[in-house]
Amino acid sequence: MDKVLVLSFGEIMLKGRNRQVFINKAIGKVKHLCKNFEIHEIYQDFGKVVLRGNEEDYEEMIPRLKKVFGIVWICPCIRTEKDLSSIEQGALEMVGSRQDLENTTFKAEVQRADKEFRPKSPQMAAKLGAMVLRKYGEKISVDVHEPDFILYLDLRGKAYLYTEKIAGPGGLSPGSSGRGLLLLSGGIDSPVAGYQLIRRGVKLSALHFHSYPFTSKQGLEKSKSLAQKLTDYNGDIRLFICNLLPVYKAIGKYCNNRYMTILSRRFMMEIGERICKKYQLDAMITGESLGQVASQTIEGVAVINDGVNIPILRPLIAMDKQEIISIAKDIDTFETSILPFDDCCSVFTPTNPVTKPKLDRVKSNEEKLDRRALIDEVLENMEIIWIKEEDR
Ligand code: ATP
Ligand code: MG
Repeated sequence: MDKVLVLSFGEIMLKGRNRQVFINKAIGKVKHLCKNFEIHEIYQDFGKVVLRGNEEDYEEMIPRLKKVFGIVWICPCIRTEKDLSSIEQGALEMVGSRQDLENTTFKAEVQRADKEFRPKSPQMAAKLGAMVLRKYGEKISVDVHEPDFILYLDLRGKAYLYTEKIAGPGGLSPGSSGRGLLLLSGGIDSPVAGYQLIRRGVKLSALHFHSYPFTSKQGLEKSKSLAQKLTDYNGDIRLFICNLLPVYKAIGKYCNNRYMTILSRRFMMEIGERICKKYQLDAMITGESLGQVASQTIEGVAVINDGVNIPILRPLIAMDKQEIISIAKDIDTFETSILPFDDCCSVFTPTNPVTKPKLDRVKSNEEKLDRRALIDEVLENMEIIWIKEEDR
């Protein structure tokens, strides 16, 4: 009899032939995040992943497992052989280990991935219930409708008994939905947008624009720290760093200042698109959310999309700031995001920006600029660094 953690995967299961690839990725991720703990065994048993380490480490390992997309449930189990006396022993130990045994109710539930096992599930559940009652009948009773806890028996290659199911993050494993470029500012929103898409299986690279020396180096450091936080979910992140100062200067000099934000955003998108094409990334991702700031209107989105030929994904578009903040806190990016360093957008934001930009006006402003030359200049000076998943 051993204590193990059993991990169940959700949607990954739907992915047919690729399923094994995804599970292997998830196992790799589990090993990486738990590499400071001893793992004696990690294997698959009828589609679930079973991990055996040192029992006393499980409490610390579980929060790390909660960072592995694809995992739907994490169940601390007792693993036994599949004979009735071992199962009984395991069941009694599992129930006995609960703190809340006086006056509680329970029911037994059996899942039989091993269809050869006899008795079948309903009969086995009845047997399991009876085993528990024989020992603990004075303290607990059966309630099949609203039990205080459920004793699960999962029959696979081995038998697994558990009473606790801890929710994992769900989602899909990174890379299973393609590759994307996150436009990562230093704000609250873009890291959350990135997280949302990593969760749906997009493997991220990130692009940050700064305007050093007009803005401080700390803004850039902040975006690196945010990318670092995202590596927990995504794995290593390639970070493209561009200095947008020449663009801001040119817009400031030649264009109507009220168009600063929208014009610079269009530059960001075109630069992002060029990077995507060169590095085979399938989409760009932004943290835009409708109505949050002046440029984030439907008209603004339309003008920003114009001329871009790859998808721009905006996972936060319909979310409230409070919802976004709550995710930012969960994924531990919030505290970094609110550090008070200037970002290039805030420095160059006009006092009275256009909120409903018209494309023809935007274009007539742009005609005053040598867009191609400016974009080439920014890309020539681009820096690329790898943000490595932290060793813990
Ligand atoms: P965030 O909190 O992500 O900074 P925001 O609410 O401040 O967003 P904006 O400044 O209008 O909104 O930016 C909208 C989106 O444009 C950002 O979420 C981000 O994806 C992208 N973006 C803005 N500034 C930068 C930048 N300096 N580098 C890279 N992307 C940026
Ligand atoms: Mg911002």
